[in-house]
Amino acid sequence: MEATEREIEAFRERVQALREKLDRAAGGREYTLLAATKTQSAEVINLLPSVGIADYGENRVQEWLEKREKINQSLRFHQIGRLQSNKIKYIIDHVVLIHSVDKRELAQDIDKQAKKHGKCVDILLEVNAAREAQKGGVAPEGLLPLYEACAQMENVRVRGLMCMAQNTPEESVVRATFRKARSLFEELAAQDPQFTILSMGMSQDACIALEEGSTLVRLGTSLFGRRAGYDNTVTEGYKE
Ligand SMILES: *Cc1c(COP(=O)(O)O)cnc(C)c1O
Repeated sequence: MEATEREIEAFRERVQALREKLDRAAGGREYTLLAATKTQSAEVINLLPSVGIADYGENRVQEWLEKREKINQSLRFHQIGRLQSNKIKYIIDHVVLIHSVDKRELAQDIDKQAKKHGKCVDILLEVNAAREAQKGGVAPEGLLPLYEACAQMENVRVRGLMCMAQNTPEESVVRATFRKARSLFEELAAQDPQFTILSMGMSQDACIALEEGSTLVRLGTSLFGRRAGYDNTVTEGYKE
């Protein structure tokens, strides 16, 4: 269904108001606003350029495959959810950044596919800074070994970190997690000039994340409203 002019205008105003809040939290720093588009139709995704958003992220390869042909090719596609090795081949020629690498084996599989396709793929390492048992991500002490292993690979380029905070309204808890991720990020950034992306912050905690140094926020609900047929409280419950 085509969006009406009035709907597009309302969307534009919502994004404008959101950006004002995010800009304040970023304190004048540049950051990327990525639209988390799981469950959204290609028609909705295609409204993003008209509100100044150039990046979108999908969680499930299968869902992306079903809508990709209808998605505006100028939009930049990110893989933001857990990625299974057998799905890498479907995204490798299209993805601009894979956010959630937390194991050496996964990085090796990405490296192998990238080589086969004659390219070098940008990845982020996901760190479980809050040490939550139910979450993906490498534990803080495993980060350096994982980074060093990936740095040896010819067809992946590690560009930074991704981190998710606890799902809690307690701001101090969330802030401490982002601060931890920021400090891990800076240690590696100090020795690697390509290590420049810190992907943290979702709808409920994007401002805190930007205050704590995020360079990329991933927003679904605050752009599109609550997702239907999806448990909004457990992001990582959305798996293949
Ligand atoms: C869904 C999702 C988001 C966005 O979540 P909202 O709370 O709707 O903003 C961000 N990151 C990942 C990995 C997601 O799966």
